[in-house]
Amino acid sequence: MLNMTPKEIFERKALRINPAKTCQPIGALYASLGIHNCLPHSHGSQGCCAYHRSHLTRHYKEPIMASTSSFTEGSSVFGGGANLRQALKTIFQVYDPEIVAVHTTCLSETIGDDLPSLIKKAREDGIIPEGKFVIHTNTPSYVGSHVTGFSNMTAAMVKYFAKKNGASKDTINVVPGYVEPSDMREIKRLVGQMGIKYILFPDTSDVLDSPQRARFSMYPKGGVKIEDLKDTGSSKITLSLGKFASEGAATLLDQMCEVPYKVLDLPIGIAATDRFIEALIEVTGKEPPESITDERGRVVDIMTDMLQYFHGKKVAVFGDPDQVISMTEFLVHLGMKPVHIVTGTPGKYFERRIKEIVKGVVDNPNVKAFGDLFLLHQWIKNEPVDLLIGNTYGKYIARAEDIPFVRFGFPILDRIGHSYFPTVGYRGAMRLLEKMLDALLDRQDRDAPDSKFELVM
Ligand code: SF4
Repeated sequence: MLNMTPKEIFERKALRINPAKTCQPIGALYASLGIHNCLPHSHGSQGCCAYHRSHLTRHYKEPIMASTSSFTEGSSVFGGGANLRQALKTIFQVYDPEIVAVHTTCLSETIGDDLPSLIKKAREDGIIPEGKFVIHTNTPSYVGSHVTGFSNMTAAMVKYFAKKNGASKDTINVVPGYVEPSDMREIKRLVGQMGIKYILFPDTSDVLDSPQRARFSMYPKGGVKIEDLKDTGSSKITLSLGKFASEGAATLLDQMCEVPYKVLDLPIGIAATDRFIEALIEVTGKEPPESITDERGRVVDIMTDMLQYFHGKKVAVFGDPDQVISMTEFLVHLGMKPVHIVTGTPGKYFERRIKEIVKGVVDNPNVKAFGDLFLLHQWIKNEPVDLLIGNTYGKYIARAEDIPFVRFGFPILDRIGHSYFPTVGYRGAMRLLEKMLDALLDRQDRDAPDSKFELVM
């Protein structure tokens, strides 16, 4: 497996191998699915849309709805305006969404289609029916990653809808970041249990984890409602979880409607969840109920019960930056040593933050933003690890180097559970503890000689 990956590392300037990211539009598509009654629309050639839909379907095992402008060679030269007009006509006639959320691909970005003007003209010409909405964001795939696309579409929700309209001042906005539907559900549960009124956007729970019913529903019951998006402009504060995926929407809300904001890490692991709960206390004055402090206590209990199996273990982690930052902190608090850490998403903040987190724990960590899995594999060959954490693409390295592997992040194409069981909050921390312990102890069982094959661990 991966026999051509050499141990010796040569600096690569132009060749990327096994990237740890994908392109902007897929993140925008995912964010759009977090609006109620929304059809995501890909303005470009149809291959992108087919790939992004199938990739999300493989991750969620759910139908992923999206339309496309289906560019031909002609539209690539003369612009895709006519394609978009035709697409909007067909979409509203045939699929009847309340809102169409348009993102772009590298093709429409390169030719420079002017989406605001095209959408305005479509509205003036009656192509967009009364009471229906079309929003857009530009998602050039040669900038950033899928996380950037998610961030851009989330900001577009603010740009098109947020108003200072005198709605409840007690409400807080929560931008949950590029996380799973189960994570969004868990964040809502925590905030709800504290008796806090909130608007969470986007919200893919009950869209991408919707139950099997006898009849297919094109627009499942979940998703943030447009009225709620309008009210975000009058909320007391915005808590944006995950700098890379959520800060853009929060800063725009502040600029447009003077809603102050706080950027927090994704609440993955005990310390980051504590900071999230503390922020909720600070901005609302409400205390967490006993049910939440009990959950925290259970996590602490598991950590103290099982610390001996985590202590000193070397770990390699890769994935999206917001997830990896919080996960690295959690690993450090478990007494582990995150020695190789990679994200495919560019951004110097990532490297700075990770180095801060592992300071005093790992002497010379290998940290790279805009890195790839080829480099991660080479690092592992030079300094082996006890555990690998990352998305499904890590399974090749895990097999090649015989490393216990925990699937975490996006995409997970070969297992189930990630969209149903959270990794955020105290419950998520408990689940991560179980997954990591299972991986480490299964390995211990596999390798133990008969005389050391323990019944009780
Ligand atoms: S990189 Fe460009 S062409 Fe490829 S899927 Fe993404 S948007 Fe489409």
